[in-house]
Amino acid sequence: MSKQVRVRFAPSPTGPLHIGGVRTALFNYLFAKKNGGTFYLRIEDTDQNRYVPGAEAYIMEALEWLGIAPDETIGKNEKFGPYRQSERKHLYKGYAEQLINSDWAYYAFDTSEALDAFRKSEEEQGKTFIYNHTNREKLDTSLVISAEETAKRIANGEHYVIRFKTPVNETLHLQDIIRGEVKFDTNLLDDKVLFKSDGMPTYHLANIVDDHLMETSHVIRGEEWLPSMPLHVLLYRAFGWDAPEFAHLPLILKPIGNGKLSKRDGDKLGFPVFPLEWKTEEGISSGYREKGFFPEAVVNFLALLGWNDGTDKELYSLEELVAAFDLNRVHKAGAKFDPEKNKWFNHQHLIKQEDASLAQAFTPILVEKGFTVDDNVATKVVSLIKERANFISEFWDLSDFFFVAPTEYDEKARKNWKAETPALMQELISVVEEITDFTSMNIETIVKDWMTKNEIGMGKVMQPFRLSLVGALKGPHLFDIVEVIGKQETIQRIQKAIASL
Ligand code: GLU
Repeated sequence: MSKQVRVRFAPSPTGPLHIGGVRTALFNYLFAKKNGGTFYLRIEDTDQNRYVPGAEAYIMEALEWLGIAPDETIGKNEKFGPYRQSERKHLYKGYAEQLINSDWAYYAFDTSEALDAFRKSEEEQGKTFIYNHTNREKLDTSLVISAEETAKRIANGEHYVIRFKTPVNETLHLQDIIRGEVKFDTNLLDDKVLFKSDGMPTYHLANIVDDHLMETSHVIRGEEWLPSMPLHVLLYRAFGWDAPEFAHLPLILKPIGNGKLSKRDGDKLGFPVFPLEWKTEEGISSGYREKGFFPEAVVNFLALLGWNDGTDKELYSLEELVAAFDLNRVHKAGAKFDPEKNKWFNHQHLIKQEDASLAQAFTPILVEKGFTVDDNVATKVVSLIKERANFISEFWDLSDFFFVAPTEYDEKARKNWKAETPALMQELISVVEEITDFTSMNIETIVKDWMTKNEIGMGKVMQPFRLSLVGALKGPHLFDIVEVIGKQETIQRIQKAIASL
């Protein structure tokens, strides 16, 4: 790649960041890092009506949590700042006027009432109204009044917008890294508003001006922006600037049915569509962080929504993703979102972690339950149960018997407690009492030797033994449990079971 790679994530702060937006940020991050480039975050807040307080901070916190924070943004390496478009307001008017002067744009004074009336009369004649070359000279624009008249009306404070004068009769053959050639007929495009008399640019103008001034090399964004691509490329032409390369990412689709993944799908099927929890007066929308997902797992499953490295490999660390990522391998087709698979990813990242660090995360839960547990014990317990967990929050239910004796015994499992069981359990107590080296393997050898010597069937001892210690026929290797809870506790639990069963 010859030019310096500079890519951006350019969200509008209109609410919490949807998981689709997070994937866009991630692909930009991966592309930048893969190519030794820069990833920057620009906040596109020119639409004041849609501005939501807190959204900007949320976006930054989410990227930080995921480990994909930008290299440049508000308050960080502000080389091309400001990075908030509302603070760049003074820049855009000049660019809009430049397009007027070069005949690439025009003033439009139409009131919304006048536009509605015009639209209605067109529709009555069976035509669909588009504000473009077919109509722009029939409307209230600077294309049909004199320059003096235009200047006068602006000076009088009349409301206006500046619209792009889309060229006619041209087929644009544009290149998209993911889609290849995409064709657009300019006659079908509308003359988009670029600037409004309140002094604010629209998304299109601000986006192009900033991508240029901030030296963006590649625009990587969601498929919903593909229809804007012809206008954007024409704007670069109008300004006489080199356009960046474009890559439009596939949609993220619903887990079941058709269409784009929405917040409603998440609510219905019980999974988050936001990285972090988002609180409003209407309620709380859950987030992956609060649900107990690891950021590495979220990054991993998002990376595979629309991309793979050409093999079956699914598990990646962020570093591995950076090394493997290739924009040319992103698919065109939408990617189905699978919440069950996401749990599997979390499980995979959970079991990869050090037992000691998982134990550390488990400790507050133990404390809440009323237990102060030695670090080594907590680590040992975690090592025995983590294979069965998707989340740290599941640890307690998988391990409570290490810390508390059963208070009840599983109804179905009780049938393993036979008439001869109490006597056998009594003998087992005597065997256990004699063991000095109280480690799992040694306990197992001694107990099994005793069973073999006395010709006692495995099931006759092992199941009631487990029922006594755990209260059910579940849990990890029995002798590992025996080692962790210790001799005294083991004996007491067997005695308790004899007394209660
Ligand atoms: N502000 C746009 C958004 O909210 C940015 C689109 C683009 O990347 O050009 O997604």
